[in-house]
Amino acid sequence: MPRRQFAHKAGGGKTTRAISGGDGQGAEPIESQLGSKHAAGDDTASTAPRFAAGLYVVATPIGNLRDITLRALDILAAANIIACEDTRVTEKLMSRHGLAGQRLAYHEHNAERMRPLLIEKLKAGAVVALVSDAGTPLISDPGFKLVRAAIAEGVAVTTLPGASAALAALVLSGLPSDRFFFQGFLPPKEMARRRVLSEIATLRATLIVYETGPRLAATLADMAELLGNRPAAVARELTKLYEELRRGTLAELAAHYAAAGAPKGEIVIVVGGVDDAATRAAITDEDLDAALETALATMSVKDASAAVAEATGRPRREVYQRALALAGRGE
Ligand code: SAM
Repeated sequence: MPRRQFAHKAGGGKTTRAISGGDGQGAEPIESQLGSKHAAGDDTASTAPRFAAGLYVVATPIGNLRDITLRALDILAAANIIACEDTRVTEKLMSRHGLAGQRLAYHEHNAERMRPLLIEKLKAGAVVALVSDAGTPLISDPGFKLVRAAIAEGVAVTTLPGASAALAALVLSGLPSDRFFFQGFLPPKEMARRRVLSEIATLRATLIVYETGPRLAATLADMAELLGNRPAAVARELTKLYEELRRGTLAELAAHYAAAGAPKGEIVIVVGGVDDAATRAAITDEDLDAALETALATMSVKDASAAVAEATGRPRREVYQRALALAGRGE
């Protein structure tokens, strides 16, 4: 069943277990142009590249089915096994591109059972493509444990990169893209969600969060309270017909979605980092006082002002003076 063992011959016939490497100039190529296979058509007469044995982590579109790379189409045509989060979703993508292939479900409910089988096939020399329903596998999707197991077993692993909703939302948000933190989904339960938000409140990086329509307004309100009223963007249905980018402060966005109701479709929230100039400008004196009042309920003036300065990005001296005034007022 393996198409060929994982090795490329270059001149002298020395084989390598490196699936790719170097600067791409002198390195042995991952695809050999020697073989051919069109999964949807004539198996003998095509010019499709042949792939060496190994695990290929393949990105698929996040909406628009044309957002797929030529290499991704090649591997989907050539793989011995396509490990899919949902075989029906992948079938739709493949039939759109005139492809068929051996699909096999690999998702959170059967992963423990399927992983050893896939590793066995890989060790026997199979070409296995791992795809999820949308975007990049492993990114809030299954695949991490399979990659880890493949590495542990000495199986070659590479990726055919492409779309991911996190980066698509970041680049459209208008927020700083030099440092960012990918949170993925927040916990669904309120207490746990608020705890995670408190943990990431002081990160000096733009924050990227995956969210669902029904929870959007509540999450934005929690963010406004726990992160401060920062600039943010809600990216919805990216690359699809009803793509929408809504930018504003967290409080504005929370109010909009509370009034408009839960939006349909898929959503990414992007939030300015604590030290971003726009974040500092968006935090009003009232926001500062509210944060200090909360902190002073359990902390000394010194500790409360340090914590709030860290969380809001406001200068320590200014926050300390404000905390002194508030503490004095309360006595
Ligand atoms: N692996 C995917 C990736 O690389 O982005 C993410 C998979 S995760 C299960 C699905 C979540 O990604 C959605 O709930 C949403 O938060 C986000 N997402 C996926 N596609 C999107 C799109 N077209 N527009 C906005 N968000 C999207």
